[in-house]
Amino acid sequence: MAVAYNKRTHRCASLRIEDAGKAVTLAGWVNSYRDHGGMVFIDLRDHEGLTQLKFNPETNPKAHETARALRNEDVIAITGTVAPRGGNVNPKLPTGEIEVEASEITLLNKSAPPPFAVSDESEANEDLRLRYRYLDLRRPVMQNVFRLRHKLGKIIRDYFDENGFVEIETPFLTKSTPEGARDYLVPSRVQQGSFYALPQSPQIFKQLFMIAGFDRYAQLVRCFRDEDLRGNRQPEFTQLDMEMAFVDRDDVMNMVDGCIQRIFKGILDVDITLPLPRMKYAESMERFGIDRPDTRFGLELQDVTDVVRDTDFSVFKSAIDAGGVVKCIVAPGAADKLTRKITDGLTNELRGIGAGGLPLTKVVDKGGDTEFATGVAKFVQPFCKALCERVGAKSGDVVFFMPGTFGDVSKYLHFVRTRLGQILDVIPPNRWDLLWVIDFPLVEWNDEMKRWDSTHHPFTAPVEEDIPLFDTDPGKIRDQAYDLVLNGEEMAGGSVRIHQQQVQQQVFRLLNISEDEAQAKFKHLLEALQFGAPPHGGIAFGFDRWAMLLAGAQSLREVIAYPKTQRAVCPLTSAPSEVSDAQLQELGIDHRPEVKAKREQKQE
Ligand code: ASP
Repeated sequence: MAVAYNKRTHRCASLRIEDAGKAVTLAGWVNSYRDHGGMVFIDLRDHEGLTQLKFNPETNPKAHETARALRNEDVIAITGTVAPRGGNVNPKLPTGEIEVEASEITLLNKSAPPPFAVSDESEANEDLRLRYRYLDLRRPVMQNVFRLRHKLGKIIRDYFDENGFVEIETPFLTKSTPEGARDYLVPSRVQQGSFYALPQSPQIFKQLFMIAGFDRYAQLVRCFRDEDLRGNRQPEFTQLDMEMAFVDRDDVMNMVDGCIQRIFKGILDVDITLPLPRMKYAESMERFGIDRPDTRFGLELQDVTDVVRDTDFSVFKSAIDAGGVVKCIVAPGAADKLTRKITDGLTNELRGIGAGGLPLTKVVDKGGDTEFATGVAKFVQPFCKALCERVGAKSGDVVFFMPGTFGDVSKYLHFVRTRLGQILDVIPPNRWDLLWVIDFPLVEWNDEMKRWDSTHHPFTAPVEEDIPLFDTDPGKIRDQAYDLVLNGEEMAGGSVRIHQQQVQQQVFRLLNISEDEAQAKFKHLLEALQFGAPPHGGIAFGFDRWAMLLAGAQSLREVIAYPKTQRAVCPLTSAPSEVSDAQLQELGIDHRPEVKAKREQKQE
């Protein structure tokens, strides 16, 4: 009689020594197989764990016969009796004190030999793992990741539900929403020549929910951005998107603070103190050279322009004369550790991102006084005392300088700081440094295009008292945005929105978006702003990024079930793939002859 696999009495991690003597039914996959002098041992695996099965040729010859033919990943169901393992206890397994003496077995499905071992120790390369993702996901580590991801989603949903938020879905086949990336387009069959855009975010829809009077909305939602996939990005990703009416920016940050606290407690059992610290953008740029500072370690940037103002050192002088700055980083006590080889390597890396070089020197003791030695020592010696006093440098320290525009200096010293943090190993483990960055500039000058671009998106409200600057000094307008940063990574971003139509139009004008273009792209929003739009604000956080960090994973691909590779391909399904001419014709897509020829060539 076949074992009733749909009547499992236990899962594979649940039996204990107290269960000895019980008759049980289990089902799962063959994790490993051992034949010990006639006795066959099988570790049976399911989503919860492992149970050892024993097949005895004396007492159950038929089951033993079937078991002998089993191989890894075969699917079986068994019935048997729980027994103590005696001397062979395995303390690493929760079920390690028992085994099940199997009396009956049904082979439910034979498996082909798997292309890699279904085990946490498997060293299969990523392409293979993604191609056979269902086998990869069968591994306990991956099962745990997706259960953590589920739990994270539940914590977030419960939190917002308790706080009066409603989850409402927004369309995927829609119109472009500007978040700074390219759109994925979907051709319309019915309206040939027209295209939907997949949403980069539900930004406008959630604002319309506030105008519709929902008061509080939160959605775990897929977003699509066709951008360069270098680094850790995915073309489709999940965001926790929320919006609140009748709030200022503190209200939104406070609401998120509570959620963050709940997440850390629920997932990691870590207590987070609230409110999370807040830092102004200008301060973050000044001290860290970036708007998402990693505050887990020092090595902060220090401005020494005024100290070295009278220098003859040409690289400093030309930067200062051009209105730039000279800043430095002091690496305390690092003189011995930072060998010539290391600093040369760092300089080369820095050149790789466009810097001219990395002037540095070391502080040494000279009869009780400090002096600079090596590197650019001779150029900065005249300022030694004043410099060391200003930046707090002592004998044994290394000082890295960077002259240039504020923007370049920030970019390069942020790089140096990050690399020094790693090289000097000063980033403390198990630390969660969370903070809000606020008061960003509303717009940034795009020198290439000769226009102002939004720092966030064009619906972000300016700080009210800065509105007069629209006509005089737009670069100085601060916005009412807030970014949440964790250990130097941007984890969420949002803002109070513009709720008055004339301010929205003023921003479009500043961004060089013409009246016609604004109407063509955002008519629905501009119109809605006329019908009693309440003050409102919201935020979105990268749900995958949170899952990645909390799971301790190294890449977003580890926490997305079916991710794309860096070439935006899904190795499992081979998407994107070609479509037939008939499909294209139906969509009215004009495929140019040269494209068609290329395709035909490929097919041959
Ligand atoms: N729409 C923004 C984003 O996706 C978030 C927000 O402003 O709420 O980044």
